[in-house]
Amino acid sequence: MRRQLLRASLIAMGAAALASCGTADADTKPAAADGVTTARLLNAAAEPHNWLTHGGTYLEQRYSPLTEINDANVGQLQLAWHYDLDTNRGQEATPIIVDGVMYTTSAWSKVYALDAATGKELWTYDPQVPGERGFSACCDVVNRGVAVHGGKVFVGALDGRLIALDARTGKPLWTTVTVDPSQPYTITGAPRIVKGKVVIGNGGGEYGVRGYVSAYDAETGKLAWRFYTVPGDPSKPADGAASDPIMKTAAATWSGNWWKAGGGGTVWDAIVYDPELDQLYIGVGNGSPWNHKIRSEGKGDNLFLSSVVALDPDSGAYKWHYQGTPGETWDFTQTQPIILATLAIDGSRRKVLMQAPKNGFFYVIDRTTGKLISAKNFVPMTWATGVDLKTGRPIETPNARFQNGDEMVAPSALGAHNWHPMSFSPKTGLVYLPAQEVPFLYSDQKGYRHRPGAWNIAVDSVKNMPPDDKATFKAIRAMLKGQLVAWDPVAQKEVWRAQYDGPWNGGTLATAGNLVFQGNAKGEFQAFRADTGEKLWRFDAQTGVIAGPVSYSVGGAQYVAVSAGYGGAYPLSSSFVDNPRPMPNGRMLVFKLNGGATLPAADPIPNPPANPPAERFAAATIAHGQQVYEINCSVCHGPAGISSGVLPDLRRSGSLSDTAMWSDIVIGGQLKDRGMVSFAKWISAADAEAARAYIGDRAKKLQAEEKTANP
Ligand code: CA
Repeated sequence: MRRQLLRASLIAMGAAALASCGTADADTKPAAADGVTTARLLNAAAEPHNWLTHGGTYLEQRYSPLTEINDANVGQLQLAWHYDLDTNRGQEATPIIVDGVMYTTSAWSKVYALDAATGKELWTYDPQVPGERGFSACCDVVNRGVAVHGGKVFVGALDGRLIALDARTGKPLWTTVTVDPSQPYTITGAPRIVKGKVVIGNGGGEYGVRGYVSAYDAETGKLAWRFYTVPGDPSKPADGAASDPIMKTAAATWSGNWWKAGGGGTVWDAIVYDPELDQLYIGVGNGSPWNHKIRSEGKGDNLFLSSVVALDPDSGAYKWHYQGTPGETWDFTQTQPIILATLAIDGSRRKVLMQAPKNGFFYVIDRTTGKLISAKNFVPMTWATGVDLKTGRPIETPNARFQNGDEMVAPSALGAHNWHPMSFSPKTGLVYLPAQEVPFLYSDQKGYRHRPGAWNIAVDSVKNMPPDDKATFKAIRAMLKGQLVAWDPVAQKEVWRAQYDGPWNGGTLATAGNLVFQGNAKGEFQAFRADTGEKLWRFDAQTGVIAGPVSYSVGGAQYVAVSAGYGGAYPLSSSFVDNPRPMPNGRMLVFKLNGGATLPAADPIPNPPANPPAERFAAATIAHGQQVYEINCSVCHGPAGISSGVLPDLRRSGSLSDTAMWSDIVIGGQLKDRGMVSFAKWISAADAEAARAYIGDRAKKLQAEEKTANP
């Protein structure tokens, strides 16, 4: 009898899952730990009480069919429990929910198993990422979540390790290093499970790496296949990878010595399996360096940068691609979240892929063929006037490539839409898209040379420094916007829009209760009516909320969960975050109707006073220090020394008035365990001292401002 049952269940799982079911049948282990089979992942929509994969189901629509919480009663939604994280860096994780257990991550790739009804900690796992690895993370030491399958929880650690944990205990079962540790690769994205394999990409495009995606056997951690997104050194033999057959085609679209700086094309977020067509879609990132003139002599499309590529999930073989930004030169990644759906277009039902990448176009692509169906901008744009539907290519504006001088371009490197998950409601037919408007002045970086391991974009960031003049500063700040856009993907038009007064707001969740949930940069977690956009509910999260929410139920009660904790690319690299101050630690926040719990009163961490050095520096030293700082330091500590509060504001740093301590940190690497590595490879001791002079000068100005404000 048992054998018969086992056989029946194996058939139900499908032959593809057989390879990975070896230990998954023992009936002694708790269901939550062992129960996630490939069959369950394929049928995740039949389990609305769970959230089994990154995007809810393989379609990654981030849509919950649960209706207990709805547009009529969401006013009674209250905190049910919260779980305090031990880091104040950005929190970007989407939790996975399996039969009453929540598996989630925090910054620094730490993993948590929590009771999904009570928040009780079941286990935690810290992969002990070396702090100095934080330096190679362009966009904070974030992590976007785990995958769960066959009794294991999989996490990609910031330092490039893929780790399989025992779902019951959190103990590591296997670890595979997925990157060359000597290169500035990082992992921030969530792994995906596809037919018994774990698929994972990486990041590092701003530092100089070659992008790829890899699939590993979920049971053993052994590499199954790897697909490189850009060609390697043509003088070297082929990679022996799944991408080999297509790399000749790709290489023909590149010029010069692109491979020396890696080329870029990292697969740092979207990896989506299509069970209907048995295809895997990967979103490919920007060029390394950004500047096409430097990277590829200004020639060629540079495949597969800024593309969606469809692969065979079993072999990793190329199937088709769509490149949204040929010859990308603006950091226009196409790694943004991908949603699969079937839409009625011109009277026929089309299997489509929807994506709203950084370049500002909302794309609807036929996923059977890879052919573009439609594309429309969802924010104002200056770099292109539209997309030629015959060729699929953007129609660029005359100086969009800043070839005849500096050009203010919108959208820009931070994206019209970044990694923040969008959602799709089959009920309203709308996509709920966290959009933003952040222009950037593009300009060739004079005298650019590639510096291994350092920030290498070949675009002059100094020109985007915030102005000292308050009126101009305010005017620029007013240009930076964020929106929740409800987008009709068939008509390619906006249905409603909730306006925020700044960018970098949270991911979205759509529910069958006619609700859309979204957090924002100001620390509000909100619910809107999905059909009209009416704001129905808000919760003060005490810190910015950027992650994607999920919904699930335990014991018949529906919950909504979201990671809170402000950080990521925009707060690190912009000086326009309102009221900057040191960020509090993040939290997992979980809500239910009449939940009855509250957060302890907020306890804002005060800004330390400005700490200018007593000595006077020569104007030439300050000017040199500005160049040193803006090229090497501003991407984390903020342009013009103005930090958002995720990382220390150096104008307030205790080391600023102590030349020896400053040198010990900047050159000596004294704080490497916190991510502040030695810069001795890239700058001299005199450069470091000049940077101190520059920040010292900025600190004097800050001190004067604060004296005026609080005499
Ligand atoms: Ca990038």
